[in-house]
Amino acid sequence: MTDAARPVTKMSGALRIARFRGIDVHVHWSWAIVGAFEVLKRSDAYTSLAWNIAEYVTLFAIVLLHEFGHAFACRSVGGTAENILLWPLGGVAFVQPPQRPGAQLWSIAAGPLVNLVLLPIAFAGYIAAKSFAPDGNVEHFALTLTVINGVLFVFNILPIYPLDGGQILRSVLWYFVGPHKSLVAAAGIGVVGAIVIGGIAIWTGDIWLGVLAFFGANVAWRQFRLSRNRVLAATLERRVGFACTSCGEGPPVTDAWRCAACTKHFDVFACAGQCPACSRVESSAVCVYCGVNALVTSYGTLPTTIVPTAPDASVPAFDATPPAAPQ
Ligand SMILES: [Zn+2]
Ligand SMILES: [Zn+2]
Ligand SMILES: [Zn+2]
Repeated sequence: MTDAARPVTKMSGALRIARFRGIDVHVHWSWAIVGAFEVLKRSDAYTSLAWNIAEYVTLFAIVLLHEFGHAFACRSVGGTAENILLWPLGGVAFVQPPQRPGAQLWSIAAGPLVNLVLLPIAFAGYIAAKSFAPDGNVEHFALTLTVINGVLFVFNILPIYPLDGGQILRSVLWYFVGPHKSLVAAAGIGVVGAIVIGGIAIWTGDIWLGVLAFFGANVAWRQFRLSRNRVLAATLERRVGFACTSCGEGPPVTDAWRCAACTKHFDVFACAGQCPACSRVESSAVCVYCGVNALVTSYGTLPTTIVPTAPDASVPAFDATPPAAPQ
């Protein structure tokens, strides 16, 4: 997975274990617990538990190499990559490639390519172990590494956003329909794909696959809605003197925000955050372009006739709905 797929947006709960060429490697605490569970679960595969531990650690070393593939590729095209997170569902490289389809494509494709390169190396190790190793441990270990690389490659290139394959699909579509419509299409396919994977998880009783499908569906659905909003809002008039502090886009002049109290749609910026229907004042608003939730006042100068309430952290986040949504 890469930046757009980040399931954990902050490094909370994660420990920095290494730094290589300016890239910090973090490990989430839950990794150790899942690791212990995984190691004990397959304790009969080897003659010694040490091999199980080595296998699990090597699995994550391979995932780490995959993430470094993303990170270095991203840097090679002028992007930034400073953090990698390992957690029980795999790895996340927090990469920000330049907003060009070619740069995105290379940053994403480099991850699975690492596995494609490692695959024959691990297989050669297996063939060598089969012929020369004295016991079955080395052979089983090398075979497992081969399978791990094969599975990581095949699984990650499935065209199901936010998996790498889904992001590769998005980068390719970008050449034809631009950055936003390509994301709408890829994320939409991602939602459908996650539901299918979720079905397979229920069918096979695979908890790990189920958790992965759940996270994937969440990320894909969120991206689908955001990018669809962007496509819809791109054609609208923008409010002069207002801009999102995160992405710089001016909010569209439309009833794109929903009141948390009465659920009516209204234009937050036309009335200083006060709902015309129920008079509730919302202090924050989601940017329809980038999805960042910020104080209404941070977007720009407000009319002085209505004084917004003090920032209230307990106010539920606005649900940015598409301007075309039924009222
Ligand atoms: Zn990846
Ligand atoms: Zn924004
Ligand atoms: Zn209201």
